[in-house]
Amino acid sequence: MTARAGIVVTGTEVLTGRVADRNGPWLAEALRVLGVDVTAVVVVGDRPGDLTAALGFLAGSGVDLVITSGGLGPTADDLTAEVVGDSQGRPSAVDPALEQRIADVVARLIARRGWRVDPVATAAGTAKQARVPAGATVVEPVGTAPGLVVPVAEGRSGPPVLVLPGPPSELQAMWPAAVATDLVRRALAGATELRQSTLRLWGTLESELAATLRRVDDQLAGLEVTTCLRDGELEIVTRYAPDAAPAYARLRQAVETDFGATLFSDGPTLDEVVTTALVDAGLRVAVGDSCTAGLLTARLTAPAGASAWLLGGVSAYANSAKEQLLDVPAELIAAHGAVGPEVARAMAEGARHRFGADVGIGVTGIAGPGGGTPDKPVGTVHLAVVTPDDVRTRSVVLRGGRDAVRERTTTLAVHLLRELLLGGPPA
Ligand code: ATP
Ligand code: MG
Repeated sequence: MTARAGIVVTGTEVLTGRVADRNGPWLAEALRVLGVDVTAVVVVGDRPGDLTAALGFLAGSGVDLVITSGGLGPTADDLTAEVVGDSQGRPSAVDPALEQRIADVVARLIARRGWRVDPVATAAGTAKQARVPAGATVVEPVGTAPGLVVPVAEGRSGPPVLVLPGPPSELQAMWPAAVATDLVRRALAGATELRQSTLRLWGTLESELAATLRRVDDQLAGLEVTTCLRDGELEIVTRYAPDAAPAYARLRQAVETDFGATLFSDGPTLDEVVTTALVDAGLRVAVGDSCTAGLLTARLTAPAGASAWLLGGVSAYANSAKEQLLDVPAELIAAHGAVGPEVARAMAEGARHRFGADVGIGVTGIAGPGGGTPDKPVGTVHLAVVTPDDVRTRSVVLRGGRDAVRERTTTLAVHLLRELLLGGPPA
Protein backbone atom coordinates (compact mmCIF):
# COMPACT_ATOMS: atom_id res chain seq x y z
CA MET A 1 0.00 0.00 0.00
CA THR A 2 1.17 3.50 -0.80
CA ALA A 3 1.65 6.45 1.59
CA ARG A 4 -1.51 8.03 2.94
CA ALA A 5 -2.37 11.55 4.05
CA GLY A 6 -5.27 13.33 5.73
CA ILE A 7 -6.28 16.95 5.20
CA VAL A 8 -7.81 19.45 7.64
CA VAL A 9 -9.31 22.52 6.01
CA THR A 10 -9.91 25.26 8.59
CA GLY A 11 -12.10 28.33 8.43
CA THR A 12 -15.60 29.11 9.61
CA GLU A 13 -16.25 30.69 6.19
CA VAL A 14 -15.57 27.33 4.54
CA LEU A 15 -17.49 25.34 7.16
CA THR A 16 -20.58 27.50 6.65
CA GLY A 17 -20.32 27.39 2.86
CA ARG A 18 -19.73 31.11 2.37
CA VAL A 19 -16.46 30.15 0.69
CA ALA A 20 -16.33 26.93 -1.34
CA ASP A 21 -13.33 24.79 -0.38
CA ARG A 22 -10.64 24.96 -3.04
CA ASN A 23 -7.74 23.72 -0.92
CA GLY A 24 -8.98 20.21 -0.09
CA PRO A 25 -9.55 19.25 -3.75
CA TRP A 26 -6.34 20.91 -4.91
CA LEU A 27 -4.24 19.17 -2.24
CA ALA A 28 -5.94 15.82 -2.96
CA GLU A 29 -4.94 16.04 -6.61
CA ALA A 30 -1.42 17.29 -5.82
CA LEU A 31 -0.99 14.33 -3.45
CA ARG A 32 -2.38 11.89 -6.02
CA VAL A 33 0.27 13.06 -8.48
CA LEU A 34 2.88 12.16 -5.83
CA GLY A 35 1.27 8.73 -5.42
CA VAL A 36 -0.20 9.56 -2.01
CA ASP A 37 -3.68 8.32 -1.13
CA VAL A 38 -5.91 10.77 0.72
CA THR A 39 -7.98 9.18 3.48
CA ALA A 40 -10.20 12.13 4.41
CA VAL A 41 -10.69 15.85 4.06
CA VAL A 42 -12.08 17.27 7.30
CA VAL A 43 -13.47 20.81 7.41
CA VAL A 44 -13.51 22.58 10.79
CA GLY A 45 -14.32 26.13 11.89
CA ASP A 46 -11.88 28.47 13.62
CA ARG A 47 -12.23 26.79 17.01
CA PRO A 48 -9.16 25.35 18.77
CA GLY A 49 -11.06 22.40 20.24
CA ASP A 50 -12.46 21.31 16.90
CA LEU A 51 -9.10 21.64 15.17
CA THR A 52 -7.44 19.58 17.91
CA ALA A 53 -10.12 16.90 17.56
CA ALA A 54 -9.68 16.75 13.77
CA LEU A 55 -5.90 16.43 14.12
CA GLY A 56 -6.38 13.65 16.65
CA PHE A 57 -8.85 11.83 14.41
CA LEU A 58 -6.51 11.85 11.39
CA ALA A 59 -3.40 10.97 13.41
CA GLY A 60 -5.37 8.09 14.92
CA SER A 61 -6.38 6.84 11.46
CA GLY A 62 -2.77 5.90 10.79
CA VAL A 63 -1.91 8.36 8.02
CA ASP A 64 1.72 9.20 7.24
CA LEU A 65 1.14 12.95 6.98
CA VAL A 66 -1.53 15.44 8.05
CA ILE A 67 -1.91 18.70 6.12
CA THR A 68 -3.80 21.75 7.36
CA SER A 69 -4.89 24.82 5.39
CA GLY A 70 -5.81 28.23 6.77
CA GLY A 71 -5.57 30.16 9.99
CA LEU A 72 -2.01 31.50 9.66
CA GLY A 73 -2.82 35.19 9.44
CA PRO A 74 -1.91 37.92 11.94
CA THR A 75 -5.29 38.11 13.70
CA ALA A 76 -6.50 36.41 16.84
CA ASP A 77 -8.82 33.98 15.04
CA ASP A 78 -5.82 32.63 13.11
CA LEU A 79 -4.72 29.95 15.53
CA THR A 80 -3.65 26.93 13.49
CA ALA A 81 0.11 27.07 14.10
CA GLU A 82 -0.27 27.35 17.86
CA VAL A 83 -2.90 24.59 18.07
CA VAL A 84 -0.92 22.21 15.85
CA GLY A 85 2.19 22.85 17.95
CA ASP A 86 0.30 22.09 21.15
CA SER A 87 -1.26 18.95 19.74
CA GLN A 88 2.17 17.69 18.56
CA GLY A 89 3.59 18.41 22.05
CA ARG A 90 5.71 21.27 20.73
CA PRO A 91 4.91 24.65 22.28
CA SER A 92 5.46 27.73 20.10
CA ALA A 93 7.79 30.68 20.55
CA VAL A 94 8.75 33.65 18.37
CA ASP A 95 11.56 32.93 15.90
CA PRO A 96 13.36 36.33 15.83
CA ALA A 97 15.01 35.86 12.42
CA LEU A 98 11.66 34.86 10.86
CA GLU A 99 10.01 37.79 12.61
CA GLN A 100 12.47 40.13 10.90
CA ARG A 101 11.85 38.57 7.47
CA ILE A 102 8.08 38.89 7.88
CA ALA A 103 8.47 42.49 9.10
CA ASP A 104 10.42 43.27 5.91
CA VAL A 105 7.69 41.75 3.73
CA VAL A 106 4.99 43.64 5.62
CA ALA A 107 6.93 46.94 5.38
CA ARG A 108 7.28 46.52 1.60
CA LEU A 109 3.57 45.69 1.31
CA ILE A 110 2.60 48.76 3.32
CA ALA A 111 4.87 51.03 1.29
CA ARG A 112 3.59 49.66 -2.04
CA ARG A 113 -0.06 50.01 -1.11
CA GLY A 114 0.39 53.35 0.63
CA TRP A 115 -1.40 52.13 3.75
CA ARG A 116 -1.44 54.00 7.04
CA VAL A 117 -1.10 51.47 9.80
CA ASP A 118 -0.77 51.37 13.54
CA PRO A 119 2.86 50.29 14.01
CA VAL A 120 2.21 48.63 17.37
CA ALA A 121 -0.62 46.48 16.01
CA THR A 122 1.42 45.62 12.91
CA ALA A 123 4.38 44.54 15.03
CA ALA A 124 2.08 42.41 17.18
CA GLY A 125 0.65 40.73 14.07
CA THR A 126 4.12 40.06 12.73
CA ALA A 127 5.25 38.59 16.03
CA LYS A 128 2.23 36.30 16.03
CA GLN A 129 2.97 35.06 12.52
CA ALA A 130 6.58 34.41 13.53
CA ARG A 131 5.62 32.01 16.33
CA VAL A 132 7.02 28.60 15.48
CA PRO A 133 6.48 25.31 17.36
CA ALA A 134 9.74 24.03 18.86
CA GLY A 135 11.58 21.85 16.34
CA ALA A 136 9.32 22.73 13.39
CA THR A 137 10.68 23.40 9.91
CA VAL A 138 9.73 26.78 8.47
CA VAL A 139 8.63 27.02 4.83
CA GLU A 140 9.35 30.56 3.62
CA PRO A 141 6.25 32.78 3.30
CA VAL A 142 4.74 33.46 -0.11
CA GLY A 143 2.49 36.14 1.37
CA THR A 144 3.22 37.04 4.97
CA ALA A 145 2.46 33.67 6.58
CA PRO A 146 5.17 31.01 6.76
CA GLY A 147 4.27 27.37 6.29
CA LEU A 148 5.40 24.89 8.94
CA VAL A 149 6.20 21.23 9.18
CA VAL A 150 5.67 20.15 12.77
CA PRO A 151 6.94 16.73 13.81
CA VAL A 152 5.48 15.00 16.81
CA ALA A 153 7.38 15.50 20.09
CA GLU A 154 10.30 13.17 20.89
CA GLY A 155 9.15 9.97 22.48
CA ARG A 156 5.64 10.17 21.02
CA SER A 157 4.45 8.56 17.82
CA GLY A 158 2.30 10.09 15.13
CA PRO A 159 2.53 11.75 11.74
CA PRO A 160 4.09 15.17 11.16
CA VAL A 161 1.69 18.00 10.35
CA LEU A 162 2.28 20.25 7.36
CA VAL A 163 0.68 23.63 8.05
CA LEU A 164 -0.18 25.72 4.97
CA PRO A 165 -1.86 29.14 4.54
CA GLY A 166 -5.51 29.47 3.54
CA PRO A 167 -5.51 31.69 0.44
CA PRO A 168 -5.39 29.15 -2.41
CA SER A 169 -2.79 31.05 -4.44
CA GLU A 170 -0.45 31.16 -1.40
CA LEU A 171 -1.01 27.50 -0.56
CA GLN A 172 -0.35 26.41 -4.13
CA ALA A 173 2.75 28.55 -4.50
CA MET A 174 4.16 27.13 -1.27
CA TRP A 175 3.50 23.49 -2.16
CA PRO A 176 6.76 22.66 -4.02
CA ALA A 177 8.92 23.99 -1.17
CA ALA A 178 6.74 22.24 1.41
CA VAL A 179 6.99 18.78 -0.20
CA ALA A 180 10.75 19.27 -0.63
CA THR A 181 11.33 19.55 3.14
CA ASP A 182 13.08 16.60 4.76
CA LEU A 183 10.22 15.93 7.14
CA VAL A 184 7.59 15.70 4.40
CA ARG A 185 9.84 13.65 2.12
CA ARG A 186 10.50 11.17 4.88
CA ALA A 187 6.81 10.97 5.76
CA LEU A 188 5.87 10.24 2.16
CA ALA A 189 8.82 7.96 1.38
CA GLY A 190 6.46 5.01 0.97
CA ALA A 191 4.58 6.66 -1.90
CA THR A 192 4.41 4.61 -5.08
CA GLU A 193 3.15 5.69 -8.48
CA LEU A 194 -0.62 5.92 -8.59
CA ARG A 195 -2.09 6.15 -12.07
CA GLN A 196 -5.44 7.68 -12.82
CA SER A 197 -7.31 7.05 -16.04
CA THR A 198 -10.67 8.40 -17.13
CA LEU A 199 -13.24 7.10 -19.60
CA ARG A 200 -16.20 9.25 -20.61
CA LEU A 201 -19.48 7.95 -21.94
CA TRP A 202 -22.46 9.82 -23.27
CA GLY A 203 -25.80 8.06 -23.36
CA THR A 204 -25.06 5.04 -21.15
CA LEU A 205 -26.99 4.56 -17.92
CA GLU A 206 -25.11 4.04 -14.67
CA SER A 207 -27.06 0.83 -14.11
CA GLU A 208 -25.91 -0.58 -17.48
CA LEU A 209 -22.31 0.22 -16.60
CA ALA A 210 -22.75 -1.37 -13.18
CA ALA A 211 -23.87 -4.61 -14.86
CA THR A 212 -20.72 -4.65 -17.00
CA LEU A 213 -18.50 -3.97 -13.98
CA ARG A 214 -20.14 -6.83 -12.08
CA ARG A 215 -19.57 -9.19 -15.01
CA VAL A 216 -15.81 -8.52 -15.09
CA ASP A 217 -15.38 -7.86 -11.38
CA ASP A 218 -13.11 -10.87 -10.78
CA GLN A 219 -10.65 -9.56 -13.42
CA LEU A 220 -10.24 -6.11 -11.91
CA ALA A 221 -8.08 -6.74 -8.85
CA GLY A 222 -5.93 -3.71 -7.97
CA LEU A 223 -8.27 -1.16 -9.53
CA GLU A 224 -10.23 1.45 -7.61
CA VAL A 225 -13.08 2.31 -9.94
CA THR A 226 -15.44 5.23 -9.31
CA THR A 227 -18.26 6.16 -11.62
CA CYS A 228 -19.94 9.52 -11.55
CA LEU A 229 -22.84 10.87 -13.60
CA ARG A 230 -22.44 14.56 -14.39
CA ASP A 231 -24.67 16.55 -16.72
CA GLY A 232 -25.60 13.37 -18.60
CA GLU A 233 -21.98 12.29 -18.97
CA LEU A 234 -20.89 9.11 -17.27
CA GLU A 235 -17.33 9.41 -16.01
CA ILE A 236 -15.33 6.33 -15.02
CA VAL A 237 -12.24 7.27 -13.04
CA THR A 238 -9.88 4.44 -12.17
CA ARG A 239 -6.84 4.59 -9.91
CA TYR A 240 -4.26 1.84 -9.88
CA ALA A 241 -0.63 1.05 -9.25
CA PRO A 242 1.46 0.40 -12.39
CA ASP A 243 1.40 -3.37 -11.82
CA ALA A 244 -2.39 -3.32 -12.21
CA ALA A 245 -2.13 -1.87 -15.72
CA PRO A 246 -3.22 -5.19 -17.33
CA ALA A 247 -6.37 -5.15 -15.17
CA TYR A 248 -7.07 -1.61 -16.35
CA ALA A 249 -6.65 -2.73 -19.96
CA ARG A 250 -9.28 -5.46 -19.29
CA LEU A 251 -11.66 -2.89 -17.81
CA ARG A 252 -11.20 -0.59 -20.76
CA GLN A 253 -11.78 -3.45 -23.16
CA ALA A 254 -14.99 -4.46 -21.38
CA VAL A 255 -16.29 -0.88 -21.54
CA GLU A 256 -15.33 -0.64 -25.20
CA THR A 257 -17.06 -3.94 -26.00
CA ASP A 258 -20.29 -3.08 -24.22
CA PHE A 259 -20.42 0.67 -24.82
CA GLY A 260 -18.21 1.35 -27.84
CA ALA A 261 -20.99 3.49 -29.31
CA THR A 262 -21.19 5.84 -26.32
CA LEU A 263 -17.52 5.93 -25.27
CA PHE A 264 -16.33 9.31 -26.52
CA SER A 265 -13.14 9.94 -24.60
CA ASP A 266 -10.14 8.20 -23.06
CA GLY A 267 -9.43 11.12 -20.79
CA PRO A 268 -9.88 14.53 -22.40
CA THR A 269 -13.00 16.47 -21.44
CA LEU A 270 -15.79 17.02 -23.94
CA ASP A 271 -14.57 20.57 -24.52
CA GLU A 272 -11.04 19.35 -25.22
CA VAL A 273 -12.30 16.64 -27.57
CA VAL A 274 -14.38 19.13 -29.55
CA THR A 275 -11.90 21.99 -29.71
CA THR A 276 -9.11 19.61 -30.74
CA ALA A 277 -11.34 18.27 -33.51
CA LEU A 278 -12.14 21.80 -34.69
CA VAL A 279 -8.47 22.77 -34.75
CA ASP A 280 -7.46 19.55 -36.51
CA ALA A 281 -10.08 20.12 -39.20
CA GLY A 282 -9.39 23.85 -39.39
CA LEU A 283 -13.07 24.62 -38.86
CA ARG A 284 -14.57 27.73 -37.29
CA VAL A 285 -17.87 27.98 -35.50
CA ALA A 286 -20.58 30.61 -35.04
CA VAL A 287 -23.44 30.45 -32.56
CA GLY A 288 -27.00 31.77 -32.69
CA ASP A 289 -28.80 31.11 -29.45
CA SER A 290 -31.65 32.03 -27.28
CA CYS A 291 -32.29 29.92 -24.15
CA THR A 292 -28.62 29.81 -23.04
CA ALA A 293 -28.03 33.50 -23.81
CA GLY A 294 -24.34 33.20 -24.45
CA LEU A 295 -23.55 30.25 -22.14
CA LEU A 296 -22.81 28.12 -25.18
CA THR A 297 -20.50 30.73 -26.67
CA ALA A 298 -18.79 31.12 -23.31
CA ARG A 299 -18.37 27.35 -23.05
CA LEU A 300 -16.71 27.21 -26.46
CA THR A 301 -14.27 29.88 -25.34
CA ALA A 302 -13.33 28.18 -22.06
CA PRO A 303 -10.18 26.54 -23.47
CA ALA A 304 -7.44 29.07 -24.24
CA GLY A 305 -6.89 30.04 -27.86
CA ALA A 306 -10.60 30.06 -28.66
CA SER A 307 -10.31 32.57 -31.48
CA ALA A 308 -8.82 29.73 -33.53
CA TRP A 309 -12.20 27.95 -33.65
CA LEU A 310 -14.87 30.48 -32.64
CA LEU A 311 -15.88 33.42 -34.82
CA GLY A 312 -18.63 34.68 -32.57
CA GLY A 313 -22.14 34.31 -31.28
CA VAL A 314 -25.43 36.16 -31.25
CA SER A 315 -27.83 35.89 -28.33
CA ALA A 316 -31.13 36.51 -30.04
CA TYR A 317 -34.02 36.53 -27.60
CA ALA A 318 -36.53 38.77 -29.34
CA ASN A 319 -38.08 37.56 -32.57
CA SER A 320 -36.87 40.79 -34.14
CA ALA A 321 -33.31 39.88 -33.14
CA LYS A 322 -33.68 36.42 -34.67
CA GLU A 323 -34.98 38.01 -37.88
CA GLN A 324 -32.59 40.93 -38.14
CA LEU A 325 -29.37 39.44 -36.76
CA LEU A 326 -29.71 35.81 -37.84
CA ASP A 327 -31.91 36.11 -40.93
CA VAL A 328 -34.59 33.84 -39.52
CA PRO A 329 -37.63 34.39 -41.82
CA ALA A 330 -40.49 36.09 -40.01
CA GLU A 331 -42.92 33.66 -41.70
CA LEU A 332 -41.06 30.70 -40.16
CA ILE A 333 -41.53 32.12 -36.67
CA ALA A 334 -45.16 33.01 -37.46
CA ALA A 335 -45.83 29.48 -38.70
CA HIS A 336 -43.97 27.44 -36.04
CA GLY A 337 -43.33 29.77 -33.12
CA ALA A 338 -39.86 30.83 -31.95
CA VAL A 339 -39.26 27.52 -30.18
CA GLY A 340 -39.15 24.77 -32.77
CA PRO A 341 -36.76 22.69 -34.85
CA GLU A 342 -37.25 24.87 -37.92
CA VAL A 343 -36.20 28.01 -36.09
CA ALA A 344 -33.22 26.30 -34.42
CA ARG A 345 -31.99 25.23 -37.81
CA ALA A 346 -32.58 28.67 -39.32
CA MET A 347 -30.64 30.25 -36.44
CA ALA A 348 -27.74 27.86 -37.09
CA GLU A 349 -27.78 28.66 -40.83
CA GLY A 350 -28.07 32.37 -40.09
CA ALA A 351 -25.15 32.37 -37.65
CA ARG A 352 -23.03 30.43 -40.13
CA HIS A 353 -23.75 32.88 -42.94
CA ARG A 354 -23.52 36.08 -40.95
CA PHE A 355 -20.17 35.16 -39.42
CA GLY A 356 -18.81 33.43 -42.50
CA ALA A 357 -18.23 30.31 -40.41
CA ASP A 358 -17.81 26.68 -41.44
CA VAL A 359 -20.15 25.43 -38.71
CA GLY A 360 -23.29 27.09 -37.33
CA ILE A 361 -25.00 26.15 -34.08
CA GLY A 362 -28.59 27.17 -33.34
CA VAL A 363 -30.35 26.75 -30.01
CA THR A 364 -33.83 27.73 -28.97
CA GLY A 365 -35.89 26.58 -26.02
CA ILE A 366 -37.90 27.31 -22.90
CA ALA A 367 -35.71 27.41 -19.80
CA GLY A 368 -38.62 28.16 -17.46
CA PRO A 369 -39.93 28.35 -14.88
CA GLY A 370 -42.65 30.21 -16.83
CA GLY A 371 -43.47 30.20 -20.52
CA GLY A 372 -44.36 26.53 -20.91
CA THR A 373 -47.48 25.32 -22.72
CA PRO A 374 -49.01 21.82 -22.97
CA ASP A 375 -47.39 21.12 -26.33
CA LYS A 376 -44.17 23.04 -25.50
CA PRO A 377 -43.51 22.36 -21.80
CA VAL A 378 -40.71 24.00 -19.83
CA GLY A 379 -37.45 22.30 -20.79
CA THR A 380 -38.37 22.00 -24.48
CA VAL A 381 -35.15 22.64 -26.39
CA HIS A 382 -34.33 22.42 -30.08
CA LEU A 383 -30.77 22.35 -31.32
CA ALA A 384 -29.16 22.28 -34.73
CA VAL A 385 -25.57 22.12 -35.95
CA VAL A 386 -25.00 22.78 -39.64
CA THR A 387 -22.21 22.83 -42.19
CA PRO A 388 -22.66 23.43 -45.92
CA ASP A 389 -23.21 19.70 -46.48
CA ASP A 390 -24.24 18.23 -43.15
CA VAL A 391 -26.74 18.86 -40.39
CA ARG A 392 -27.43 17.39 -36.97
CA THR A 393 -30.61 18.29 -35.10
CA ARG A 394 -32.00 17.32 -31.75
CA SER A 395 -35.22 18.09 -29.90
CA VAL A 396 -35.59 17.24 -26.23
CA VAL A 397 -37.56 18.04 -23.12
CA LEU A 398 -35.01 18.54 -20.33
CA ARG A 399 -35.82 18.22 -16.65
CA GLY A 400 -34.68 20.50 -13.87
CA GLY A 401 -34.86 24.18 -12.96
CA ARG A 402 -33.89 27.10 -15.13
CA ASP A 403 -30.14 26.85 -14.45
CA ALA A 404 -30.10 23.10 -15.06
CA VAL A 405 -31.98 23.41 -18.36
CA ARG A 406 -29.57 26.07 -19.57
CA GLU A 407 -26.51 24.07 -18.47
CA ARG A 408 -27.77 20.83 -20.04
CA THR A 409 -28.71 22.59 -23.24
CA THR A 410 -25.16 23.90 -23.46
CA THR A 411 -23.68 20.44 -22.91
CA LEU A 412 -26.08 18.90 -25.38
CA ALA A 413 -25.09 21.44 -28.04
CA VAL A 414 -21.40 20.65 -27.57
CA HIS A 415 -22.15 16.93 -27.87
CA LEU A 416 -24.13 17.58 -31.06
CA LEU A 417 -21.13 19.45 -32.42
CA ARG A 418 -18.91 16.51 -31.42
CA GLU A 419 -21.21 14.12 -33.24
CA LEU A 420 -21.09 16.20 -36.40
CA LEU A 421 -17.30 16.49 -36.27
CA LEU A 422 -16.36 12.99 -35.16
CA GLY A 423 -19.38 10.77 -35.57
CA GLY A 424 -19.73 8.47 -32.60
CA PRO A 425 -22.38 8.52 -29.90
CA PRO A 426 -25.46 10.50 -30.88
CA ALA A 427 -25.99 13.56 -28.71
P1 ATP B 1 -4.63 35.36 6.02
O1 ATP B 1 -3.29 35.88 6.31
O2 ATP B 1 -5.16 35.86 4.68
O3 ATP B 1 -5.61 35.47 7.13
P2 ATP B 1 -4.75 32.53 6.58
O4 ATP B 1 -3.70 31.50 6.36
O5 ATP B 1 -5.04 32.90 7.98
O6 ATP B 1 -4.37 33.79 5.71
P3 ATP B 1 -7.50 32.13 6.33
O7 ATP B 1 -7.70 33.29 7.29
O8 ATP B 1 -7.95 30.80 6.79
O9 ATP B 1 -6.01 32.02 5.89
O10 ATP B 1 -8.18 32.45 4.96
C1 ATP B 1 -7.96 33.68 4.29
C2 ATP B 1 -8.84 33.72 3.06
O11 ATP B 1 -8.37 32.77 2.12
C3 ATP B 1 -10.28 33.32 3.30
O12 ATP B 1 -11.08 34.40 3.69
C4 ATP B 1 -10.70 32.79 1.97
O13 ATP B 1 -11.07 33.82 1.12
C5 ATP B 1 -9.44 32.14 1.47
N1 ATP B 1 -9.47 30.71 1.83
C6 ATP B 1 -9.05 30.14 2.98
N2 ATP B 1 -9.25 28.82 2.97
C7 ATP B 1 -9.83 28.53 1.80
C8 ATP B 1 -10.28 27.32 1.19
N3 ATP B 1 -10.17 26.14 1.81
N4 ATP B 1 -10.83 27.40 -0.04
C9 ATP B 1 -10.95 28.59 -0.66
N5 ATP B 1 -10.52 29.76 -0.15
C10 ATP B 1 -9.97 29.74 1.06
MG1 MG C 1 -6.77 34.42 8.39
